[in-house]
Amino acid sequence: LKYIGRFAPSPTGPLHFGSLVAAVASYCDAKANNGKWLLRIEDLDKPREVSGATQTILLQLACFGFIWDDEIIYQSERTFIYQAALNALSKQKLTYPCTCSRKEIADAATHKGIEGAIYPGTCLHERIKLHAPIAWRIKAPDSVIAFEDRIQGKQSQNIAQDIGDYVLKRVDQLFAYQLAVVVDDADQHITHVVRGVDLLNSTARQIYLQQSLQLTSVQYAHIPVVTNAQGEKLSKQTLAPAINSHNAAEELCYALQFLNQNPPEYLKRESLTTIWDWAIDHWSIAKIQPNINNCI
Ligand SMILES: [Zn+2]
Repeated sequence: LKYIGRFAPSPTGPLHFGSLVAAVASYCDAKANNGKWLLRIEDLDKPREVSGATQTILLQLACFGFIWDDEIIYQSERTFIYQAALNALSKQKLTYPCTCSRKEIADAATHKGIEGAIYPGTCLHERIKLHAPIAWRIKAPDSVIAFEDRIQGKQSQNIAQDIGDYVLKRVDQLFAYQLAVVVDDADQHITHVVRGVDLLNSTARQIYLQQSLQLTSVQYAHIPVVTNAQGEKLSKQTLAPAINSHNAAEELCYALQFLNQNPPEYLKRESLTTIWDWAIDHWSIAKIQPNINNCI
């Protein structure tokens, strides 16, 4: 299959309008390219999980007329696979254990990157503390990683300068999103990733992991994220309301409108099947504006 896409929600609460937009964009892009659309539940961070949220999300997707292909995969069942990937990187001497506390990292940092203090590599150069909890970091490459985003255009990043050595396994022994997502995309044979632009900064780190693990690369398209009136990304933290399954047709049309697909006014009074047929027939990723923020 030339196109396999995916939607990968975290069960931290019900889907809100921002997650609906991401689901619609990845679904239309997959279906317009005669591809598959897979579902992955990113439930790696058990402490942040809300009980029952996975079932709510699956129900919401079904009520909105999404039809996913193949079996759903759950990250919480895959920790041994992430450990194998970490071992493979360690075997290549790309990783090192880190026993620094948050405060020690902040105190030792001499540079600020795009995500705050850049870790100065203390544990790479000095002996790690005995009996302290261990995180695992990968040495950041000091070279430019470039890729072409289908919406945002040419992108490049020097991870060493912008981010620093990054964590693959946290002190609490949870695997970092960056590692899990790369391993899962490869295992699900994902060819195209369509997701929010808030993850654009993570992409170079993920490409570096793909390269280091000799995995095939994927095509990226980063859609604008939906923000509230205060300019904050819609999320559980910003108290975004859940999408309303009783108003699915209208909300679906708003999502298409947000994605600049210009759905006709009458469409919101049609059946979900008619809306999806129209959306897939008329899907044009080129119409999506690359601007970073869009208020609803
Ligand atoms: Zn350290």
